[in-house]
Amino acid sequence: MEAGKSKQQVVDFSKRAFERKLFAGTSGNLSVYDREKDRIYITPSSVRYETMQPADVMVIDLAGKVLEGPHKPSSEWRLHTAVYAVYPQIGALVHTHSPFATAFAVNREEIPATLIEMFFFLGGSIPCAPYACPGTAEVGAYAVPLLEDKGGCLLANHGVLAVGKDMEQAYIRAEYIEDAAKIYSIAKLVGTPAILSALEE
Ligand code: 13P
Ligand code: ZN
Repeated sequence: MEAGKSKQQVVDFSKRAFERKLFAGTSGNLSVYDREKDRIYITPSSVRYETMQPADVMVIDLAGKVLEGPHKPSSEWRLHTAVYAVYPQIGALVHTHSPFATAFAVNREEIPATLIEMFFFLGGSIPCAPYACPGTAEVGAYAVPLLEDKGGCLLANHGVLAVGKDMEQAYIRAEYIEDAAKIYSIAKLVGTPAILSALEE
């Protein structure tokens, strides 16, 4: 994808995540990776989503070097580069603090598989990575092993990481992770949720 389109996509999906309450304030970040050109289009750090423009989007390489843009790249750039470095099939990443899923992350618990969508879109239950201070290389180091067979994971006391071959896939996974956490939480309030161990027919 050409640079202008990638920057526009970063802005469009950031605004969508903000409007749908996956992002609050300036929390969360996302990126798309042009692997052929080694250019990661990533949200700038602490810039408001309401006013974000394509010119605000930062471009870095896999080593974290800033190639373009007027801001600092997201403070989680090490998380983004760590995932892209290990998984060649991943082309986009969405990190949110979406509230229901992050409540599981605060409890350091997985989101159990209770909906068939979780098998289709996410690889079943969503595991939680051990705690790492936000912005450090450990966030990526602890999350990466969990992504081998999952569309995302939780980051302890922090939030959600969703990955995909492209932005559409990473974003919809971030929505499904939040939805699964919300439905499970409601089910627990009114009864005892049944957990699916595999895709049952
Ligand atoms: P940035 O604004 O630096 O991307 O930080 C948001 C965040 O979620 C940090 O974990
Ligand atoms: Zn965060």
